[in-house]
Amino acid sequence: MTTTLLNADLHCHSVVSDGTLTPEQLAARAHANGVQLWALTDHDEIGGQQRAAAAARALGLPYLTGVEISVTFIGTTVHIVGLGFDASDTALAQGLAATRGGRGARAQEMAAQLAAAGIAGAYEGALRYVGNPELISRTHFARYLVEISACQDTNEVFRRFLTEGKPGFVPHRWAALGDAVRWIRNAGGLAVIAHPARYRFSPNEEYALFSEFQQHGGQGVEVVTGSHSVAEYATYAAMAQEFGLAASRGSDFHSPQESHTDLGRLPPLPAGLTPVWQLLADRIQ
Ligand code: AMP
Ligand code: MN
Ligand code: MN
Ligand code: MN
Repeated sequence: MTTTLLNADLHCHSVVSDGTLTPEQLAARAHANGVQLWALTDHDEIGGQQRAAAAARALGLPYLTGVEISVTFIGTTVHIVGLGFDASDTALAQGLAATRGGRGARAQEMAAQLAAAGIAGAYEGALRYVGNPELISRTHFARYLVEISACQDTNEVFRRFLTEGKPGFVPHRWAALGDAVRWIRNAGGLAVIAHPARYRFSPNEEYALFSEFQQHGGQGVEVVTGSHSVAEYATYAAMAQEFGLAASRGSDFHSPQESHTDLGRLPPLPAGLTPVWQLLADRIQ
């Protein structure tokens, strides 16, 4: 489990957050695609962990617990993945519940903005795609906008709606960076900066994210992810080395219809990095 060549996929979503497959369907798909180490990382929610671990065990697929926590850092939403924690940890569960808490009111405001932009019934429409009532997300709204042909696909939705400056965007205050890292660490897990290229930070802002993350006890960064270009693999391999962070790899798979990167279908980690699974060997189930 120490090689950078391991086909590890440590980032994906089920119906427990904004994916379209069940934990069992994801486990089967990961296994069929040749994944050798898997983690389900639903947004702000660990309700799918037991099902994912049980399904993986039945397939003989090594498993790490996972979560993707929404964080607000210098006014921007940043995602922190947690891996290999104890899923029965009370403080982690409480922190995640608090992070999920504002989603209902936020969704109502998003719907009100969309109504003002001429799209009626978006709250009820989005709810029909929600698998977990505590986890209504922009993805569910995106699916409804595609259903009513307001947009051709979810990518077009995020270009025209739901993002900063566009109808349906409601600024939201998520968890603090230090809190998210501490919840993960105190539950025995390892914290990872998810898809760093997605934040479009300036070099100074990015440096602040990496150094504060590390000061709080964060130990990993996603280098190879479905959200990065090949050039960005090299950029974040260098960042991992500069900061002495372990490297993670994950597709961020949400749905066979929407995701361009399937489970396990990623290039290997660049050589010379310490894979996160090397630090998590004793947490693999
Ligand atoms: P939320 O947590 O409600 O803000 O929703 C965030 C989710 O929306 C992300 O995890 C993605 O699944 C999806 N998302 C955000 N931006 C985009 C984008 N530009 N293209 C496709 N999906 C996106
Ligand atoms: Mn998502
Ligand atoms: Mn993310
Ligand atoms: Mn994700």
